[in-house]
Amino acid sequence: MEKIIFLDRDGVINEFPGRGEYVTRWEDFHLLPSAKKAIALLTASGFEMNVISNQGCVSGGLLTLQELETITSKMLKGVESAGGRIHGVFYCIHKTADRCKCKKPQTALFHQAARGRDIDFSSAYFIGDSEEDMQAGENIGCRTVLVLSGRAQEEDLSRFLVKPQIVKKDLLDAAQWILEVKKKS
Ligand SMILES: [Mg+2]
Repeated sequence: MEKIIFLDRDGVINEFPGRGEYVTRWEDFHLLPSAKKAIALLTASGFEMNVISNQGCVSGGLLTLQELETITSKMLKGVESAGGRIHGVFYCIHKTADRCKCKKPQTALFHQAARGRDIDFSSAYFIGDSEEDMQAGENIGCRTVLVLSGRAQEEDLSRFLVKPQIVKKDLLDAAQWILEVKKKS
């Protein structure tokens, strides 16, 4: 079994900024304490984590690439301060109109994260908080976990065209479930 987990960012690792909203300043990036714990737990169990996130706010002109990088490095430091490690962070900075191949639910970012390696996506996980994430996970062929700590709420699920394989409260809940599954396999 691959010990690789792909993570969405907003609503999974940090507080969901709200529909149509973006995190454009570090002051507005709030790492979820339970997510820090989860990443530390998964790191200790030997999982590699890669962040796969749409940040169209960059091409929308709401923040610069450099400002996004600043947020990223502070996020990584925050995670490390709790004993966790994120292996790679991959962003799509485009808008839908750009017709790129990386904006989720497309899959180019997953391939970027896998670069040079023969990853068995079918035994990797993608944990996200939106229907778009579940579509991306299905498109790449990962196991999908929806967390209810961000965009989607339980009542939204019935409208999802692509259902998650499992629904968990937050990243910590998801991490504990993954570790249970792993123990049994
Ligand atoms: Mg999200």
